[in-house]
Amino acid sequence: MKAVQLITHGAPGKMELREIPDPKPGEGEVVVRVRSCGLNRLDLWTEEGALPVKLELPRTLGCEIAGEIFSLGKKVSDWRVGDRVAVQSNLFCGECEFCLRGKESLCVKGQILGVNRDGGFAEQVLVPASSLVTLPKRVSFETSAALTLAGSTAMHMLTNRVKVRSGDWILVIGGASGVGSAAIQIAKQLGAYVISTGSSEAKRDLAINLGADYVVDSTVEAWPIEVRKITGRRGVDFVVEHAGGEVLLKAFECLARGGTIVTCGATAGRDVELKLWPLFVKEQSLVGSYGRNRIDIKVTLQWAAQRKIKAAIDHEFSLPETPRAFAQLRNRSVMGKVIVKP
Ligand SMILES: [Zn+2]
Repeated sequence: MKAVQLITHGAPGKMELREIPDPKPGEGEVVVRVRSCGLNRLDLWTEEGALPVKLELPRTLGCEIAGEIFSLGKKVSDWRVGDRVAVQSNLFCGECEFCLRGKESLCVKGQILGVNRDGGFAEQVLVPASSLVTLPKRVSFETSAALTLAGSTAMHMLTNRVKVRSGDWILVIGGASGVGSAAIQIAKQLGAYVISTGSSEAKRDLAINLGADYVVDSTVEAWPIEVRKITGRRGVDFVVEHAGGEVLLKAFECLARGGTIVTCGATAGRDVELKLWPLFVKEQSLVGSYGRNRIDIKVTLQWAAQRKIKAAIDHEFSLPETPRAFAQLRNRSVMGKVIVKP
């Protein structure tokens, strides 16, 4: 089969379209014919060698996978060849104390597709059958590849890690990003008022089109003042945050009394200096969110089938064009998601 593999790390790293042996499913495993694979910030970190995990190269990247089952290993009874599926990218053991509590995202033996093992920028991918979720008929492979990871990340943040009430104010950082574009729509479905940041007029327009009630220009230094103005100086109840660094500190300036920041990333910096005084005086919270559980993917795809949430897709690339897809995500001009179709 054909796969685009990372040969050496860098920004850009060296990638090659290669012919490699077809994967063979072992016990409890399946091979999925990849139809669409979304590109994520995680792929850029993997490419650059910027993740705090040891990586073996060459590696096939790609963690947001939709396709059809191509072959089944032994002891796989719930699935048939040809079934349309989305793949859970944070693989879990199903046996540790956290898995037994239904917290697959906290699995102590967790692996990430496209990082610890080969992912979806290939014609086929080998995955545990336990990682599969049925793709509803009304959801295309492209939509699934744009929502399976980014959308379910936002779903996990807003329905698992925090509890949103109708009428709450929610600030979404970077509403034109993969997580942000889904978070706006999920927050609206939950009955919240949504403010989104965006660094260009086109990105702010996208946020409005996705349902945001207000947008603020994140290139203006004092944008948190705008957020406070919009909320009558009260501040927001929740911030959906995935940038970290200085953006996280600015998110605190937007937060109401009793408010919570839920964060799932640190593209703008992994180290911050917190002001603890307002944190405890205003009884605010900072909550981490990592990955998702299969139920988050299931609900995200159900909502997509019901047209409650749509995928914001910027561009689709063929498998040989994968390095171009990486370049587009790196230069931050992307509106929504970039997808590779092997
Ligand atoms: Zn586990």
